[in-house]
Amino acid sequence: MDISIKKTLLQPLNDPLFKEKKIEVYLKRDDLIHPTVSGNKWRKLKYNLLEAQKQKQDTLLSFGGAYSNHIYALAAAGKLFNFKTVGIIRGERTEPLNPVLSFAKENGMRLHYISRSAYRDKYDPELVGEFKERFGHFYMVPEGGSNVLAVKGCIEVIEEIDIDFDHICTSCGTGGTLAGLVTGLIGEKKALGFSALKGGGFLKDDVDQLIKGYCGKTFSNWDISTEYHFGGYAKSKPELLQFMKYFERTHKVPIEFIYTGKMFYGLYDLIKKDFFKPGETIVALHTGGVR
Ligand SMILES: *Cc1c(COP(=O)(O)O)cnc(C)c1O
Repeated sequence: MDISIKKTLLQPLNDPLFKEKKIEVYLKRDDLIHPTVSGNKWRKLKYNLLEAQKQKQDTLLSFGGAYSNHIYALAAAGKLFNFKTVGIIRGERTEPLNPVLSFAKENGMRLHYISRSAYRDKYDPELVGEFKERFGHFYMVPEGGSNVLAVKGCIEVIEEIDIDFDHICTSCGTGGTLAGLVTGLIGEKKALGFSALKGGGFLKDDVDQLIKGYCGKTFSNWDISTEYHFGGYAKSKPELLQFMKYFERTHKVPIEFIYTGKMFYGLYDLIKKDFFKPGETIVALHTGGVR
């Protein structure tokens, strides 16, 4: 199983705003890792799949909403690396299947729907026991793929960056990616997450737990901005879509409105508001999600 990642491109972004504010911005193109297991999802799955293989598990089971990029990536990775996959999906089954779930199904994933209230307690041993009865033994990957092994995979983003920089930015859903970046920085420089969810305050605790779980300590050189969710997960506003058009036209790099669009909007806004000091260098992680 060759699940290694070729070091991804780090490209400078040129924009009149950055020039005016004397800020350098580089884009880390994790969206180019793979066409279907894109961006941070491959980083987070890498050591989980190796662990599943070590445990001689042939089935991967995980959780997500009906539009989950993680479910999409897990189905694709299962197909690529010969694992059976099971997706536990929040809410009711709707026909026809949306593009994410129909892709998952085409790639061999078994889809199992549970109510929103059951989903809240998805790791409950009794429920997991029911999954075992239904699907046999499996390797369980948590929602969003975010666990300590995901942290290990995302540390490698930092290891690949061969320029000097002051800040690294990422979009946040479950916070696993940010936890990996913070852990990789080992207390130096700064990491800034942009929450794609409303009320993402709880994310800080989750990120802290993941960091502690990996290295047994905490760091303080990071933060999460919760100002740029545009109404909540997968919600949008005209000014976000307008900004995305500007970004794609200017940089010829595709972004999407759920995660990366919101991060770049927030990054531009913070640069406008002089959040960063003149002369600083920022690396923005393109976590993928575009298909
Ligand atoms: C899943 C995803 C995220 C969120 O990553 P977390 O590790 O859950 O915070 C960000 N961007 C994209 C494109 C994603 O698909």
